[in-house]
Amino acid sequence: MGFECSAEFKIGGEMSREKVTAIILAAGRGTRMESDIHKQYMLLSGKPMIYYSLLAFEESAVDEIVLVTGAGEEAYCRKEIVETYGFLKVARIVAGGKERYHSVYEGLKAAEGSDYILIHDGARPCVTKKMIQAAIEEARISGACVIGMPVKDTIKISDSSGFAVGTPDRSSLWLIQTPQAFSYSLIMDAYTKLFEREGSQQGITDDAMVVEKMTDRKVKLVYGSYENIKVTTPEDIAVAEIFLSKRLKKAIDN
Ligand code: C5P
Repeated sequence: MGFECSAEFKIGGEMSREKVTAIILAAGRGTRMESDIHKQYMLLSGKPMIYYSLLAFEESAVDEIVLVTGAGEEAYCRKEIVETYGFLKVARIVAGGKERYHSVYEGLKAAEGSDYILIHDGARPCVTKKMIQAAIEEARISGACVIGMPVKDTIKISDSSGFAVGTPDRSSLWLIQTPQAFSYSLIMDAYTKLFEREGSQQGITDDAMVVEKMTDRKVKLVYGSYENIKVTTPEDIAVAEIFLSKRLKKAIDN
C-alpha cells in the first residue's frame, strides 16, 4: 500500500527504539449479531473478520501484537488464524474477560515492557495502516489519542420513557473509533486505578474514557474515516464487505 512508517526515532543523535504494541480485542460474544458463530470468526469476503485487523497491524509500524480472544479460544486462534495466514507480529494470545475493559486490562498486562499501546476493536476490520500511523504519531506527541470522526446526524438525549430531553451541539460531537493510542505508563496507570477504585467501572465503553475518568490527562481526537465501522449487527457485514473490496481493488491498482 506504499505507506512509509518507522518506529525508530533519534535522541541526541543516537538511534533509539520505542516499542509499540497493538492490543487487538476479539473476546466479545457479539450477541447483537444473532449468529451462532462468534462475530470475529464470521467470514467477510471469504476471510474471518479478525483477519483484516490483524493484516493492517501486521503491515504497520507496530512491533508486536497481543491478540485477546475468548477464554478457551486461544489454541484455535493460533492455529486457524495466526498460523494459517502467517501473522508474524502476534507475540501473545491471551484470554479476555467479561466486559471490554476486562479484556483490555488482560491485554495491557501481556504488553508489559512496551512504550506505546494501540488498542483496537477486532470488530473494526476496515482499519488502515494510515489510521494506525496517525495514532502512533499523535500518541508520541500528546501521550493519548483516539481515532474518530465528527458526527453527521443530530444526536438526541432521551429519558427513560423514550422522550427527547436534549440536543447536544452537533459541531462539538465526534463518533469514536479505534485504534486508541497511549503511552504505556499512562494507560496502565489509568486501568490500574479503574480496578482499584470501587464503582468506577460503571458505563465504561472505551479506553479514552478510562483516561478521562482516572487521570487529569486530555485525550486528543484524530481524524479516522467514516469507513472504519464497527461490525455489530447483521446489516454491517454487507457494508464492511463493500469498503474492504474497495481497498483490495486500490491495492491491486497501485
Ligand atoms: O461490545 P463492543 O462492541 O464494545 O466490542 C468492541 C470490541 O471489544 C470487539 O472487538 C469485541 O470483540 C471486544 N470485546 C472484548 N471483550 C469483551 C467485550 C468486547 O474483547 N468482554
